[in-house]
Amino acid sequence: LLELRNIWVEYGDKIVLERVSLQLDAGSFVAVVGPSGAGKSTFLRLVLGQEAPTRGQVLLDGRAMPAACGPDRGVVFQRYSVFPHLTALGNVLFGIECAGAPLTARLFGARRRAARDRAVEMLAAVGLDHSLDVYPAQMSGGMQQRLAIAQALVKHPRILLLDEPFGALDPGIRLDMHALITRLWQDHGLTIVMVTHDIGEAFKLGTRVLAFDKRRHDPHAPHRFGATVTYDLPLDRKTPPPP
Ligand code: ATP
Ligand code: MG
Repeated sequence: LLELRNIWVEYGDKIVLERVSLQLDAGSFVAVVGPSGAGKSTFLRLVLGQEAPTRGQVLLDGRAMPAACGPDRGVVFQRYSVFPHLTALGNVLFGIECAGAPLTARLFGARRRAARDRAVEMLAAVGLDHSLDVYPAQMSGGMQQRLAIAQALVKHPRILLLDEPFGALDPGIRLDMHALITRLWQDHGLTIVMVTHDIGEAFKLGTRVLAFDKRRHDPHAPHRFGATVTYDLPLDRKTPPPP
């Protein structure tokens, strides 16, 4: 599904990713771990198409990665993935549109109703069907992340990218979110790439765990170090973890 070929990402003379080559299979749940600053979010931005590598290629289905906001990728961040001035329903409708004018302003009649039905269906899938008109400020952190997931999935992307999605949540709520994301992964046949600081979460949910780590590669230029994949463990799991 996705392939990274000898990727380098550099900012000025700072190397962030170095020689990263990976293939991600459709249907896998890839958990990404590593210390702060190792380049985990940079890796997600590459897969999202929001960032171009300095060297190397990112391929989707064997072709150069199309620009960001393609319908095949959805993304959720730790915080601020949803718009505070829109209701739950408004947020998910916005997810159908990617950039530019809100979709609801451009769709009329049957197509508008179909979009609304799809948004409501997605909200139900994350357990927010009773909160269509609620604003994010009135929601708990867990509800906001459910909403962000609904927004990311409403276009039925093949790939869901999660950047520490549960990092700000209480442990009990995290468990609920694990169950939710596992169910969505199965039901929608998703490929998931999830960055997490929680090793337990990585091994619990992932079918594969990738660790990024920084290493200095040139002793004469100690500020030049790049992260590479130091650890790549495919787990023998095709089904969801036990509850
Ligand atoms: P964290 O766990 O803290 O989220 P991370 O693994 O996600 O860290 P990245 O956000 O990918 O790390 O950043 C990797 C390195 O790249 C950091 O040193 C960061 O300062 C640097 N970096 C990221 N974006 C830019 C940019 N636009 N310009 C310059 N440096 C950048
Ligand atoms: Mg990050």
